[in-house]
Amino acid sequence: MRKKAVALPKLPAQPSPDYETLRRALSIEARHHYPNLKGKQAHFADFVIAELGKALQGGLPGAESLLLQFRVYGSLNLTERAAAVQALHLWLNERIASLTVASSETDEPARDDVMDWRDRPLAISKGSGGAIAGVGPKTAERLARLNVRTVDDLLRYYPRTYLDFSQRVRIRDLRAGVRVTIWGTIKRVDAYNPPRQAQMSILTVWLTDGTGTVAARWFGKRGNKVALDRQKARFPVGQSVLLSGEPKRDSFSGRIVFDRPATEVLGGLDESGGTSLHVGRLVPVYDLTEGLSANSVRQALRGALDRFLPLVRDALPAATRETLQLVPLRQALELIHFPTSLELKDLARTRLAFDELLWMQLGLAYKRAQAQARCEALRLPTVGERVLRLKELLPFRLTQAQERVLLEIQADMAAPNPMNRLVQGDVGCGKTVVALLSLMVAIDNGYQGALMAPTEILAEQHYRKMAEWLSLIGVEAALLTGRTPKKERTRILAGLANQDIHLLIGTHALISDGVDFARLGLVVIDEQHRFGVKQRASLRNKGEQPEVLVMTATPIPRTLSLTVHGDLDVSIIDELPPGRKPVKTIWARTNKQQNETWSHIRTQLAEGRQCYVVYPLIEGSEDLENVKSAVEEHERLSREVFPEFQVALLHGQMKSDEKDAVMDAFRTRETQVLVSTTVIEVGVDVPNASVMVIENAERFGLAQLHQLRGRVGRGPWASYCYLFSENRSETTRQRLEIMEATQDGFVIAEQDLAMRGPGEFWGTRQSGLPDLRAADLVKDTVLLEKARAIAKQLIEADPSLDTRPLLKSDLFRYFRANLSFLEVG
Ligand code: ADP
Ligand code: MG
Repeated sequence: MRKKAVALPKLPAQPSPDYETLRRALSIEARHHYPNLKGKQAHFADFVIAELGKALQGGLPGAESLLLQFRVYGSLNLTERAAAVQALHLWLNERIASLTVASSETDEPARDDVMDWRDRPLAISKGSGGAIAGVGPKTAERLARLNVRTVDDLLRYYPRTYLDFSQRVRIRDLRAGVRVTIWGTIKRVDAYNPPRQAQMSILTVWLTDGTGTVAARWFGKRGNKVALDRQKARFPVGQSVLLSGEPKRDSFSGRIVFDRPATEVLGGLDESGGTSLHVGRLVPVYDLTEGLSANSVRQALRGALDRFLPLVRDALPAATRETLQLVPLRQALELIHFPTSLELKDLARTRLAFDELLWMQLGLAYKRAQAQARCEALRLPTVGERVLRLKELLPFRLTQAQERVLLEIQADMAAPNPMNRLVQGDVGCGKTVVALLSLMVAIDNGYQGALMAPTEILAEQHYRKMAEWLSLIGVEAALLTGRTPKKERTRILAGLANQDIHLLIGTHALISDGVDFARLGLVVIDEQHRFGVKQRASLRNKGEQPEVLVMTATPIPRTLSLTVHGDLDVSIIDELPPGRKPVKTIWARTNKQQNETWSHIRTQLAEGRQCYVVYPLIEGSEDLENVKSAVEEHERLSREVFPEFQVALLHGQMKSDEKDAVMDAFRTRETQVLVSTTVIEVGVDVPNASVMVIENAERFGLAQLHQLRGRVGRGPWASYCYLFSENRSETTRQRLEIMEATQDGFVIAEQDLAMRGPGEFWGTRQSGLPDLRAADLVKDTVLLEKARAIAKQLIEADPSLDTRPLLKSDLFRYFRANLSFLEVG
């Protein structure tokens, strides 16, 4: 065992409830708004009853009355349930505080002595001290639909935007291109489906303020009469409206109009009749839900701020606040909701965004410091024989970037802390060979190595390439995938156990049960974004704290990378091997252009090159009329387009040996054209292939297009990537033009992030991004860097953060809310 021993608390003689599990159950139940959740074994209330039963047996005071409440929990209304949960929470805190067991080393969040006021539910009965002026049960219930359940949720329910009354003008004085706010009465509302645009409906509202009339328009999906009427009902004629936006001159009518402005229907109020809350100079606009008026949210916030702002404690060290010129927390919370000027609103947002980014970075740094403190890593200091000989064997010299990254890795491996490094580099930059050399370091030091790839095709390609070299330098390597025959598998397992096998290459079969290494020193995970978090963790757990190297060609914008890989060190290979020609990228938008492309490709093939043609679907689908499929097009291409060449088909539903045979034939140039789906997206390396055609290019993400394009341009020949798409949408145009304009994966990723936003960019493969309400991963790059630097300083000065209890308790609140994010990596 390399882990430091942890002193276990003495077992109490009496049966005792599991406080921590109870506490966790409570917070989960509260977060879900008291549904009496069903857990793995029992409903929440039944679990509580069982635990309280133990407490009763142990003679703990207070348990009995709680038991009574939870016996009837199922029949309580939400308010009563909330009260019961809170009572139990308080009781738990008392119990825990009275325990005199020396604190043990656990990953559990710090224990606060009493329920933090921030956790008070909004929906709580009068008299229990949780109610906020202006928040009755109805409002609380509606807020809960927006996931606003506690005081903290409410204070952090920031406005979506603001109506700026200081910029208020008369309708008569409107000018195109100047951002303003107007006040007016609704004169007429109209919603219709324009005959020429098949997808769209238009809602128009005419406002008047006595000086003139102006129209505001919104564009939505086409709808039937009911849907259109529902749109119209949002703007009852005769009511007054605040509207903020930048008007423009309509090219058709020549009149001034507002397209998609921010608005708020004030009801029957006239211009002067509003309260200062709602018609101040800057009026916050919140996302609402049915039955929840803008007024009631503002009132709730005013009430919450008035009552709780004095309790707010600023955890940010004053020195940091000053250096970074951040406003104090109380001020920030007040000003984000009720700013007196736009500048102050910006300052408030910056402060609140900084906190979010700091918690995130601090969380990652803290977690990492804890992990390092717990275990001693391997030291693999020798750069031995095999590394040197392999370098000599390579048919090329490493690029400077490869060499630099290799040195970074070697330094990590020699150091006593476990390596946790991400190697990022654009497609084709040569990550594989860096991984291989790193694996040689492990082997030179007497350990074993493992390399895991996301697909069989890729695992076999790695194995095939490496095997030649490895046999020359005395490294015994094996390939293990899901279809390795049983006998071979048994041989491999034995070889791993007695260390006859030094290097295991494979798919996620590597992490299946029974695969045990004698001395695993380094784990490399290729194309790591293709793996789930759990899979990565299990490979890591195959040894006692092996060094870990993960590689990805998905260029991640730095903000996102710091977020998602904040607990990894990052090395970047920012140089391509010499002699690479850029891949000329062309968007073929018409049938004619596409036909010309095919004849150009025939010329290339005649010169000995090869070509990929990628389709979004395996087989045709009736639902997707205009989308082509690999199976059908393979037919057509072989018969009509490339009759004189061999055209092969590859897709994910084929059997493994079929896939293998197809890849083999393509590698050995028996076939010239490979019709495929995105199974070839990652890693495939056939330098002679110089043309990539992507059909229905509008259906692929930018990162995917870039990956696919990376399959060509690997040899000395001029290479081409043709994007076929007849799609005319604005998004398609923007995306395909970016592909034409740049080869730089990072530029593409930045653009992708900006166009799609972090959530979608990151997709669903990874577990969630952290909960950010004020911060914006696209825009707050600089702030994030600052937060990261501060987090690093804080943790270096005090890895346990015990000298900063406030900050530590904030951090643990963050841990509780963002567990799924923090488990990444
Ligand atoms: P990726 O980073 O996309 O995984 P690979 O490791 O597949 O890239 O490398 C792409 C190709 O470049 C391979 O054929 C590899 O052998 C070759 N290669 C790697 N490093 C160099 C180098 N320094 N000089 C020339 N070719 C290289
Ligand atoms: Mg690769």
